[in-house]
Amino acid sequence: MDILQPEQLEHWDKEYVWHPFTQMREYRKEKPLIVERGEGSYLFDVEGNKYLDGISSLWVTVHGHGKEAINRAIIEQLDKVAHSTLLGEANIPSILLAKKLVEITPPGLDYVFYSESGSTAVEIALKIAYQYWQQQGDEKYKSKRKFVSLVNAYHGDTIGSVSVGGIDLFHKIFSHLLFETLSVPAPYCYRCPLDLSKDTCSMQCVGEMEILLARHHREIAGVIVEPLVQGAAGMIVAPEGYLGKVRELCTKYNILLIADEVAVGFGRTGKLFACEHENVKPDLMCLAKGITGGYLPLAATMATGEIYNAFLGGIEECKTFYHGHTYTGNPLGCAAALANLELFEKDKLIETLEEKISFLTHGLERFKELKHVGDVRQKGMMVGIELVENKETKEPFPVRANIPHRVILEARKNGLIIRPLGNVIVLMPILSMSLSELKDVLDITCAAIKKVTEGEA
Ligand SMILES: *Cc1c(COP(=O)(O)O)cnc(C)c1O
Repeated sequence: MDILQPEQLEHWDKEYVWHPFTQMREYRKEKPLIVERGEGSYLFDVEGNKYLDGISSLWVTVHGHGKEAINRAIIEQLDKVAHSTLLGEANIPSILLAKKLVEITPPGLDYVFYSESGSTAVEIALKIAYQYWQQQGDEKYKSKRKFVSLVNAYHGDTIGSVSVGGIDLFHKIFSHLLFETLSVPAPYCYRCPLDLSKDTCSMQCVGEMEILLARHHREIAGVIVEPLVQGAAGMIVAPEGYLGKVRELCTKYNILLIADEVAVGFGRTGKLFACEHENVKPDLMCLAKGITGGYLPLAATMATGEIYNAFLGGIEECKTFYHGHTYTGNPLGCAAALANLELFEKDKLIETLEEKISFLTHGLERFKELKHVGDVRQKGMMVGIELVENKETKEPFPVRANIPHRVILEARKNGLIIRPLGNVIVLMPILSMSLSELKDVLDITCAAIKKVTEGEA
């Protein structure tokens, strides 16, 4: 291949590529960051500039880029076979990975249904939950067809996962296209309109959910939640105990609990899975993002034996789950995931997180003092720093000022890749980052916020 000049690539990028979640008119005015390679906690662009990857390449990288053991696992599998189908057949890595996932996820989740993205993992959970109730012998369960979701939830971008989403900016325009869901307030807020304490708010939200479930449980198939942290909503952390309460309510009213661990799974919150913090056993669990350590697209929807068994029957009974994507259970993806999980054990990654998490907590203190920071939220290795124009009233900056975007451009100039969510600057450091790399992430972010919002370095 010809050696490509950065200018040529930039031209073709702007000429041919439509980027996700990106206003292309703005994008085309700026110089794009074109990544060429990665190494450890760093990405390098086509001009050779080096950047710390402060968002784990959109929340997926676990052990760093170019990790030898994962690369090797993919290459070894590639030498055997790149793809074979799971539709009525099996392959070795998908078998081994399913066994492993059943062993490490909360007890009761005994079966694995593969797909390729977080959105499909959620679609699959919703469809399984729906069909599960339709296949119960008892007619009275056939009316269980609706889902309960939380305000500000994000579960992906396909129509089903958008239906259970609650972020107006992303979801409202599609409202007529979506299926009806029951929405309940979430205690994942910090700026309470009623000025309630977190515990009181949690109690009220649980109370509201109970009222809804008590009244409508005959129509409800499942409740879907992001355990502990609403990610795309801006890293909003739930009060302790809320998830456990939701589990109790689902059990009490005979409703399936779907835990969307796409963002929080694989170590993000300091434990391998967020449900572990409250010993919660969901009925269905969605996994993606960190599952391959950030190497290949793969997702899994985990289900209990009770759910799996409801799909067993004679061919004429039509209880089959008629769902499957072409690349389901791709051997390369599964091999990468197996290598990723082996590294968790070999490097004792979860054990190393405690120190990093408290380092972050400590390092974030000074952000709270900044003139234009309204709130700092953290759970484990997930951080949201909310920018405001007015610290007292928490009034945000006008959208047109484009402040969050200017902050990330400033950080980029200083060698750090981050991305905002609305008014929130997100930090999602790679779990394997060293303390000194974490310090750089914090220092560069702090300086960028100061420079853009206060006009000084
Ligand atoms: C990212 C995300 C999804 C969607 O995953 P994709 O792989 O982008 O489709 C679903 N749920 C949560 C909680 C997420 O953070």
